[in-house]
Amino acid sequence: MIEELLNPWIRDLVPYSSARSEFSGRADVFLDANESWEGADPGINRYPDPFCSELRQAISEYMGFPFDMTAIGNGSDEIIDLLIRMFAYPGRDAIMVERPTYGTYSVFASISGVEVIDVPLTPSLDLDENAMINTINSRKPKIVFICSPNNPTGRVYPLDKILRIADANTGITVVDEAYADFAEDFESAACAIKDNPRIVVLRTLSKAFGAAGARLGVIIADPVIQQVFMKAKPPYNVPFPSQLAGIRAVKDIENVRRRVEETRIRRAELSSFLNTLPYTKEVFPSEANFVLFRVTDASRLYSYLLERGIVVRNRSSEPMLDNTIRITIGSDGEMERLKEALSGWEG
Ligand code: PMP
Repeated sequence: MIEELLNPWIRDLVPYSSARSEFSGRADVFLDANESWEGADPGINRYPDPFCSELRQAISEYMGFPFDMTAIGNGSDEIIDLLIRMFAYPGRDAIMVERPTYGTYSVFASISGVEVIDVPLTPSLDLDENAMINTINSRKPKIVFICSPNNPTGRVYPLDKILRIADANTGITVVDEAYADFAEDFESAACAIKDNPRIVVLRTLSKAFGAAGARLGVIIADPVIQQVFMKAKPPYNVPFPSQLAGIRAVKDIENVRRRVEETRIRRAELSSFLNTLPYTKEVFPSEANFVLFRVTDASRLYSYLLERGIVVRNRSSEPMLDNTIRITIGSDGEMERLKEALSGWEG
């Protein structure tokens, strides 16, 4: 039962009831929310829709999930934070993450006083199923985070492996699919929620949908979890201009597809190019909008690119990723400038 996994104070939470959530129906004089009668910018004198209804409708149609299984966070980062606060008891519970992976799972857990258990990936950077299931059995983490395609490796994990780990886990398994749109033949863990309601899937409009500045993350979950999320989130967590930008982004599906297609082509070109460089040691196959590669000296290459006005991400401090650099796929022009700079480095 999901309810039993929740922190007791969340289970018993009486949510804040905002003016906008109390009123439903038709009216044209709004004197209920202490807003200004005039907007600093058009439309922004009013509080935004607390339920993000129109955006959720557009997203659930696009992704093919019922409306009551989706909710919107202020970026997936807010959702990660809230899930930890909903399920993990500070000072008692732990979350489990594979390493290396996206860093905020651990940081938000630490902010909440929740222990983080790291399980290293295998030497080939795959999920270590046995180690994860053994740790689940011995340590009973409240939430297991799995990122697929993984940041920063770009690797998609086999869905059957993810689902076996989720089935072994008596707590919540969060599958972060932020980069799913860039993967070929991607199978989402969301299809398994009906069989295992402890699975939660995260998506974001920050990548393929081109709306990182709007801060729009999507949680796909069993309606019970979604309802608790709606109670626990800040009342107006997604600003009005962001909701509008999100609706436009989701409806502009032709451009999303074009961007994904161009990103995949440039990703293949960049990977081949990196392989030709004399100082490249390894290029990791990627299903995301970035490529990770290993060089002779990542710190020196990082500084060299920075001197030329190009910012990349040095991932060398992560376990198993010594001397690695992660490069986001940019525009054609940006990729040309990058390649020109990389060609000029002595190694
Ligand atoms: N998940 C992963 C795996 C990410 O790499 C990122 C951002 N880099 C996020 C979530 C955060 O996404 P958002 O912009 O929706 O907060």
